[in-house]
Amino acid sequence: MTEIVSVRKAEDYEKGLSKAIDKVLSDLGGLKRFVKSGDKVALKPNLLVFSSPSKAIVTHPIFTFEVFKKIIEIGGEPFVIDSPGSGIPFTKNSLKSLYRLTGYWEIFKDYTDYLNTDTSKQTVEIENGLILKRVDILKPLLDADFIINLPKMKTHTLTFLSGAVKNMYGAVPGMEKTKYHSRFRNVHDFSKVLIDVWNVTKPGLTLMDGIVSLEGDGPAMRGIPRKTQVILGSKDPLSMDLAICKLIGLAYNDIPYLKVAIENNLSDGTYNIVGETPAINDFILPRTYHGKISIDPVSLYNYFVFPIFSKFLVEKPKVMKQKCIRCGVCVRSCPEKAITIDKVSAIIDYNKCIKCYCCHEQCPEGAIDLKRINL
Ligand code: SF4
Ligand code: SF4
Repeated sequence: MTEIVSVRKAEDYEKGLSKAIDKVLSDLGGLKRFVKSGDKVALKPNLLVFSSPSKAIVTHPIFTFEVFKKIIEIGGEPFVIDSPGSGIPFTKNSLKSLYRLTGYWEIFKDYTDYLNTDTSKQTVEIENGLILKRVDILKPLLDADFIINLPKMKTHTLTFLSGAVKNMYGAVPGMEKTKYHSRFRNVHDFSKVLIDVWNVTKPGLTLMDGIVSLEGDGPAMRGIPRKTQVILGSKDPLSMDLAICKLIGLAYNDIPYLKVAIENNLSDGTYNIVGETPAINDFILPRTYHGKISIDPVSLYNYFVFPIFSKFLVEKPKVMKQKCIRCGVCVRSCPEKAITIDKVSAIIDYNKCIKCYCCHEQCPEGAIDLKRINL
């Protein structure tokens, strides 16, 4: 069945935000279609790293709070839950720091008890997974009656898009995320992990914060905030990610996890956009993205020659010594234990590095750049 993806304009996080969310919900049949009075509703934003909302890395707290209030208005019992990236220890105290540093504590000041700090997990057996047989998932998320996925519209150096499906990877607790990078080293297999995790959690509704998005080398400190002024909503995260591809001018086949989903008949690639379809021109993709065909010689070179030499030409993480504060976050986030800290900065052992870009994603100083290895 072709799912609706509602796209509505939202100027910023103040003017008319509530009304814009209402329009999206109305396009989807209204919030009461999804949430019943008394339902325990998990709101799953993207809280990847310690970072202020102005950097457009996390789902903006005001966006999440607007949805939170709407659930209360119809008698639901909402709570906010996420597990941050692997560079941040998954403990009650660091979750509190996460809420403080991402602005959630301030915006939810009268409701801080609704910001989850329970770090318990539950192993879920997966019968017909694409690649996983079982996976650990945040227990409070599994205990909820209904999950609302609240992703941020972002690029990603590994999967190119960090959209609605990818946001549910935060359901995997803390540092357990890194082990899947180690076990499934190519992006095709890792995409299957993303699909399996999404299928286990099955959010019933996705509302995306695309008011200020992140372009360039997302999904964290090396990305660039970009005013895109949209909110998206859909029952189906796959349809939403397909619609985003259309909005930013990407072919869905270029997004590894969308390709995997379509190959496995989880989507037929169709969706139905309602509302508005603003053109988001010249959206900057990560420099790891080489798939787009255009007529310029560089792109042709990338498309035809790159696959042959990709082993040599793939971007590697590179520490910018002058920016490194030797905090050790990258050491914790590296699944291959390829990073050590010397007297000056972090050092990467390229013999061990699998180019998963977790360190690039987690470095709080944006001190890890990506550089092409030249022949
Ligand atoms: S590169 Fe330096 S600043 Fe960045 S996470 Fe590693 S140690 Fe910290
Ligand atoms: S050093 Fe390599 S393997 Fe380790 S996190 Fe960075 S990209 Fe991944």
